[in-house]
Amino acid sequence: MFYKSTRNADPATATAAEVIKQGLANDGGLFVPDTVPSITLEEINALRGESYPVRAATVLSKFLTDYTYEELLADCSEAYAETSFVGGAAPLVNIHDGFESLELWHGPTAAFKDMALQIMPRLLSRALVKTGEKRTALILVATSGDTGKAALEGYKDVSGIKIMVFYPIDGVSRVQKLQMATQTGSNVNVCAIRGNFDDAQSGVKEIFGDAEMAKALDEKGYFFSSANSINWGRLAPQIVYYVSAYCDLINAGKCKLGDSFNVCVPTGNFGNIFAAYLAKQMGLPIGHMVCASNANNILTDFLHTGTYDRNRDFYLTMSPSMDILISSNLERLLYFTAGSEKTAAYMDALKKNGAYTVDAEILAEIRKNFSGYFTSEEETAATIRDTYNRYGYLADTHTAVAIHAAEEYVRESGDLRPMVIDSTASPYKFANDVYCAVANEDAQDELAALDALSEKTGTAIPYPLAGIATRRVNFEQVIDRTEMANAVLDYIG
Ligand SMILES: *Cc1c(COP(=O)(O)O)cnc(C)c1O
Repeated sequence: MFYKSTRNADPATATAAEVIKQGLANDGGLFVPDTVPSITLEEINALRGESYPVRAATVLSKFLTDYTYEELLADCSEAYAETSFVGGAAPLVNIHDGFESLELWHGPTAAFKDMALQIMPRLLSRALVKTGEKRTALILVATSGDTGKAALEGYKDVSGIKIMVFYPIDGVSRVQKLQMATQTGSNVNVCAIRGNFDDAQSGVKEIFGDAEMAKALDEKGYFFSSANSINWGRLAPQIVYYVSAYCDLINAGKCKLGDSFNVCVPTGNFGNIFAAYLAKQMGLPIGHMVCASNANNILTDFLHTGTYDRNRDFYLTMSPSMDILISSNLERLLYFTAGSEKTAAYMDALKKNGAYTVDAEILAEIRKNFSGYFTSEEETAATIRDTYNRYGYLADTHTAVAIHAAEEYVRESGDLRPMVIDSTASPYKFANDVYCAVANEDAQDELAALDALSEKTGTAIPYPLAGIATRRVNFEQVIDRTEMANAVLDYIG
């Protein structure tokens, strides 16, 4: 199987290893496979008795055809080991009749980014060998918190790769800072910047675009690479858990082989829900896909009107991983629905005017599969409280956005097929807001909220966050934004 750009009609010629190494296509588009491979009900049936790593290697081998099944199984077995994903990689937990929570946060940073970032570095490491790359990849990340930690955990001790993460000293929470400062691994570096997230981000962008830096790196046997969420190596692993969820739905007697089920996804960059769409294109019996947003409801508006318009207010919410105005992976859906020529024109309009409108037939086609709903801050808190009080299920803020959206969809459509809700973070990752919703009072501070939530609900703090205040601090460097390039050169020595 070969890959091509979403923005032109040139034939697909890139291998999976090449696109994982390269990230973005040369014309600025995203890489997509030239065909969508299929999965049959017989194959799904055979996966019902298999572990998550086997399910993952089976699905990935259909897309990454230049990787052998043995390579993929070895990588998936390490990435999704039970010591890393405690309680299973993607367990399906009943919330109440018809609603199932697909918990994607049992990994080393207690959030769903681990599902992709635990496997993608291993795929990149093999891609370097497959493409004959002799140099070491240096991953640079600017983070506002969660992605940096998930990337550090994913890349640590992976061969052929080093990673350096920059975060704004005053722009991340105390828990996030501790998570990064206590990072372990022989190929990692973490550095705080005096400034805000934009300073860290623009600093990294400047380094990426600096030809002299690239030359200096090359002389030392390195090249820059990114852990960007539009990389195909982050998207493909997300298809797996929809297949896995269906196996588990059948195993739990919630539906029969061949019956369809719906999914509801708390959406930011549109990567997670696009993976569901690809699973459906493969033949997985997914019915409808509910796209859940918070107060930043640009996708809800798009799915109602066909107009994507980023000229609007931006809100900081209690579900910060969905505070996004540009959902990059929507481009992949546009490509599959409208083709490369129109996609290129829409992306051009987005860049120039901050907005585009798709043709009526294209919107109608998209709406056959997707509906958009958004959840306000008050509704999010009320959903956390009600879901806990009524069903004993403790949801984080992002998951609560999705639960509320799924309830609205069912009320409006009367569609009673099993609903799989993607649960994207541990409630402890957002312990302050979750505790406040459940207990109706604020915790003393963020660290105290972890214990308070555990005491109040009788649930355990997940291992990535337990005892965080007493771990050894390995990284204390704080620098000015202007010193970032030097810090990179110092690191590679
Ligand atoms: C990244 C993230 C999301 C959004 O996922 P996308 O693939 O960007 O749509 C939702 N919830 C959490 C907790 C996340 O970290």
